[in-house]
Amino acid sequence: MWPHGKRWVYSITYDEGCAALMDHAAPIHRELGIPGHVALVASQVGVPRSVPGSSYDGMMILSREQIDGLCSGGWGVSCHSLTHAAITEENADEEVVRSRLVLEGALGREVLLFCVPGNNDSYPASAAVAARAGYLGVVTIYDKPFSATDHEAITANIPVMGIVKGGRVQPAHPEDIAGDKAMRIKPKG
Ligand SMILES: [Zn+2]
Repeated sequence: MWPHGKRWVYSITYDEGCAALMDHAAPIHRELGIPGHVALVASQVGVPRSVPGSSYDGMMILSREQIDGLCSGGWGVSCHSLTHAAITEENADEEVVRSRLVLEGALGREVLLFCVPGNNDSYPASAAVAARAGYLGVVTIYDKPFSATDHEAITANIPVMGIVKGGRVQPAHPEDIAGDKAMRIKPKG
């Protein structure tokens, strides 16, 4: 489906994986021919979300069958912790390491990315154990893009990974063709 034999590409992440995206986001991705990505809380597949305090609490989460369907259309899946708790040194084994096994069991597929829940304060403790857990990379939802002077989610310093050329998405950086383990991050400022 993608150039250079890649099984999936990273485009837009929907954290939590609410089932409503089947009706709203998935058709648009299909129409554009660009798969998306879901970051799933490992304990919350195919059930109404039960994360006390979350504004998504009670919303139905994608089932394994729905995720299978998305993945067969090129979508990717990452692990978004076990309970969406802030990640600390104390709970990282549970929330980052064990959650990968739990999610892989729930989905019956390999999970190679960890998506930090909440905010980037949870990044250091997540990154510290990610390699041991077997992830190839760690992504964050946002890096405080909104400030008094910066209201744009997409800014000049946002990492560019793909460009549309001749009606297809091509890697923006030739070195990305060689390896799919590279990560690009939004520089500070
Ligand atoms: Zn989240």
